[in-house]
Amino acid sequence: MQVIELGDGKPEVAVVGGIHGDEPCGPIAINRLLAEEPSVERPVKFIIANEEALEAGVRYLDTDLNRAFPGDPDADLHENRLAYDLAREIQDCTTLALHSTQSYADPIGVIKSFDEVARAIYPRLPVNVVIETDEHTDGRLIEYPHTIEVECGLQGTADAADNGYELVRAFLVATGVLRQDKDETRLDAPERDEVSVFRLEGPIPKPEAERYDVLAENFTKVDAGEAFARADDDEIVAEKSFYPVLLSPNGYESIFGYVSKKVGTVE
Ligand SMILES: [Zn+2]
Repeated sequence: MQVIELGDGKPEVAVVGGIHGDEPCGPIAINRLLAEEPSVERPVKFIIANEEALEAGVRYLDTDLNRAFPGDPDADLHENRLAYDLAREIQDCTTLALHSTQSYADPIGVIKSFDEVARAIYPRLPVNVVIETDEHTDGRLIEYPHTIEVECGLQGTADAADNGYELVRAFLVATGVLRQDKDETRLDAPERDEVSVFRLEGPIPKPEAERYDVLAENFTKVDAGEAFARADDDEIVAEKSFYPVLLSPNGYESIFGYVSKKVGTVE
């Protein structure tokens, strides 16, 4: 784990990239920002989490780091030890963790539940949708208070790295680390005045098959009776209507993604 601090004093703001070694957007975004040698209004730390997995170009060495919190300093598995160390690094910080998916090209926010920090920050980030995981956190970093995640875009793409950079800048402005540059024109910033919130209700299991397809769009309602995915030649039909989130054919080993409910908007 690499930790770089800017500014004087103990940082209360943190940015984390590289929790998954096959998601280079976070480390690229962080290194791009650091290369600019920005002057900061308050101390901040940048963390490249799983250097070993990044080096190997794999999601993880022993186990998924973002299912391993709170971790254990004496564990046999690399990611279980790393989870413990990372959790201590972000303690007492307002934290942004950068990820990417195989399911959606635009940025998505992910949060356990809307606390005052998330409510203040998300509307200031270039995201249109936020997923609230509620109790489905399963050892993710967002179990910690004042911690928000963003999915920057599609895994391994230049767009995901560009989005990641914009998200880090916006987060650092929202937390008072960077001053908003008045001359900065964000012509490509998405037009938006509210953030839609989707609450996770549970995973969508994958039956045993050789080949998977998805037929539905993320964040778009699937009606009862509609086929939303395929396993080999079998169509999988919705029993009840739902909004799919993080839905992709091969993004996860044993699930397609998640069933969610649209719960409202935050402005
Ligand atoms: Zn990830």
